[in-house]
Amino acid sequence: MATAHRKLFDAIVVGAGIQGCFTGYHFAKNKKNVLLLEQFLLPHSRGSSHGQSWIISKSFFEDFYTKMMEECYQIWAQLENESGTKLYRQTGLLMLAKKDNSEFQDTLDTLSKQGVEHRNLNPEELQRRFPNIRLARGESGIWDPSGGVLFADKALKALQDVIRQLGGVIHDGEKVTEIKPGYPVTVTTTTRTYQAKSLVITAGPWTNQFLRPLGIQLPLQPLLINVCYWKEKVPGSYAENFPCFVASVPELAPHHVYGIPAGEYPGMVKVCYHHGNQVNPDERDCPSASPDLTDVQVLSSFVRDYFPGLQPQPAIMERCMYTNTPDKNFILDKHPSHANIIIGAGFSGHGFKLSPVVGKILYELSTESLLSYDLTPFRMSRFQSFDKASL
Ligand SMILES: Cc1cc2nc3c(=O)[nH]c(=O)nc-3n(C[C@H](O)[C@H](O)[C@H](O)COP(=O)(O)OP(=O)(O)OC[C@H]3O[C@@H](n4cnc5c(N)ncnc54)[C@H](O)[C@@H]3O)c2cc1C
Repeated sequence: MATAHRKLFDAIVVGAGIQGCFTGYHFAKNKKNVLLLEQFLLPHSRGSSHGQSWIISKSFFEDFYTKMMEECYQIWAQLENESGTKLYRQTGLLMLAKKDNSEFQDTLDTLSKQGVEHRNLNPEELQRRFPNIRLARGESGIWDPSGGVLFADKALKALQDVIRQLGGVIHDGEKVTEIKPGYPVTVTTTTRTYQAKSLVITAGPWTNQFLRPLGIQLPLQPLLINVCYWKEKVPGSYAENFPCFVASVPELAPHHVYGIPAGEYPGMVKVCYHHGNQVNPDERDCPSASPDLTDVQVLSSFVRDYFPGLQPQPAIMERCMYTNTPDKNFILDKHPSHANIIIGAGFSGHGFKLSPVVGKILYELSTESLLSYDLTPFRMSRFQSFDKASL
């Protein structure tokens, strides 16, 4: 039987992925007693936040994300200072698409309206600047110099260190098994029972497992993502003069293809498909979890067409998970019946860069503080299929 812990925490955060850690960071910064509970021993690679390099940039079709990125860059820089760890490498981000592509135009609009430095590159300029990319379908480019690489694993470790230095508590290897709503909210794990004034659920692809007993189910779809690395034919040819990129090529694939210059594995560029197959998060690493490799075939065609200097078969394949919502926007909201239970979920493959502000918003929701951002795009009530039947 789980033993009871005496202290009343200001908040318990379930899940020490990047969103849970940034939530914990904001609680700790504001001198609140916070406890983070993580089912696996840290560090681990079983969720969505592990890896050496994730993309950061200000380029979005939706202006609300671009607005949030201003503060995200500041908090990432603050964390670099506090931890004494370099977490960001500026490479620029290139958006590659035909100039009549609606996402291309929307991104240009957003960057212009928000006053974000960028350049619209015609095919000739693009080709001159990046001779190692073949513009297979006559693409143009948007150049966002703020783009770059976030060192994800280092960021998680830095955050966890700073949270502890600020007095926050992190218990790993402790799986949450039950949540009893109320004031205080009671949380039982495999080893103990805790109480807190509020609870934040940032459990990534596992989120709905917690919400079922709390009477709601959100339209969250865990997807298995094959993370593919492609070998340079000539070592170094895609390392220096090569940016992070996002390509929209509807003729080839309904979802984006994105990539990151060679870094974590010398001589290998990371090129991934922004979609995957449905998966049960507890079975992600079973050999039978995803026999369908259509995504990898799409990537092979893309690499063959656009990167003549890369081998068109992946040299390494790893696994990660997205948790997608139907509109690919996040869910940042309170439980409809339990105001001290806050949910941060559905980061749809683009949540890492935004996590500094996501954590701030989840903190503000938990503490009934004035909200720094308009949360209309993130409310769960936007979904028709949001299931409150059993409330
Ligand atoms: C291949 C890939 C590439 C990506 N690239 C980018 C990118 O370039 N840029 C970008 O901004 N974003 C990117 N993302 C998205 C980003 O990584 C995610 O949005 C983000 O990591 C989500 O974090 P999270 O904390 O919500 O989830 P997670 O990292 O999954 O964390 C949830 C945590 O909850 C824990 N948990 C679950 N159940 C329990 C329980 N019962 N008890 C205790 N703990 C529990 C889990 O173990 C896990 O650690 C990428 C994602 C993938 C998979």
